[in-house]
Amino acid sequence: MQNKIKEIIDDAYHGKLLNQREIKELLDLDTGSEEFYYLLFKARQMSAEACSGKAEIHGQVGVNSGPCGCNCAFCSFAAENKIFTEQQVEPLERVLEQSLDLEQAGANAIYLMATAQLNFQGFLEMGRQVRRELRTSVPLIANMADFNDEQAVALRQAGFAGVYHAVRIGEGVVNRIKLEDRLQTIEAARRAGLAIGTCVEPIGPEHSVEEIIEKIIIAREAKPGFSGAMRRVTLPGTSLSRYGMVGEARMALIVGVVRLVTPREVPGNCTHEPNAIGAVAGANLFWAEAGSNPRDVVNYTETNRGFDVGRCKKILVDAGWQVLEGPSKFC
Ligand code: SF4
Repeated sequence: MQNKIKEIIDDAYHGKLLNQREIKELLDLDTGSEEFYYLLFKARQMSAEACSGKAEIHGQVGVNSGPCGCNCAFCSFAAENKIFTEQQVEPLERVLEQSLDLEQAGANAIYLMATAQLNFQGFLEMGRQVRRELRTSVPLIANMADFNDEQAVALRQAGFAGVYHAVRIGEGVVNRIKLEDRLQTIEAARRAGLAIGTCVEPIGPEHSVEEIIEKIIIAREAKPGFSGAMRRVTLPGTSLSRYGMVGEARMALIVGVVRLVTPREVPGNCTHEPNAIGAVAGANLFWAEAGSNPRDVVNYTETNRGFDVGRCKKILVDAGWQVLEGPSKFC
């Protein structure tokens, strides 16, 4: 094994914040190399230590669907992708049922996900109702459009404990959202006392190592409860479909690198969609999904791409993890 690579990996494991050049050395590793497997080994070890050996499963409910003018090319709701043509907001009863089902199945956190078109007050009210009905202290997390300080406080008051928010790869290039707005939202969430979860996403084969490094560092600097890496899912017939998808071994390398590059005070390291080699590489957070979903072309992802809690758990256990019971420690 190359000493130089082993040293970078060991330094990261022992708490050194790697610089861009060092991160690049790791991301450039061949997935068939000895160094790759050593990286996975140390990332997994660091991940297990950071979360006391307990992986988590978070359950997400998509609460609406329909064309979205932000036009993120990677998202099935982008108006330009012409996958969803009608605005549809799920009835509260359905959102409640899906949230309670996920909680009952053992999800450690419940997320409500909305497109950027959903009325903020409507989303808040949904959050209030779900919080009221959840039977345990499982945290409720918002995954929604950019928001300001006032809205961040309103989210907190409605019972949301945190947000999922990422500076996605290609902000301002493959969509109409400014990178700066994403960062300001994360800061607004922090000021309001909301926990932050983030991820380097959605990664496609065409993205340069430099671009991935930039987003790994942005995620690290957000001081989240979890970071991680997610690949873009191909939506047939859309502008990005010609690039295809990143393979799971390459994603395992990236999720392992994210773990090593992110301080161990950040306990969570997610990957999506759930897969065994990702968990072997140190992913300790998977998502179970219900309702609408930006990676799916149907209204109810649980009937198509979405994994349920049991399926996520089986993969984590297959990969040698124990799964936390009770409320998340990541948010
Ligand atoms: S990712 Fe969000 S903001 Fe972008 S098109 Fe989809 S719903 Fe709209």
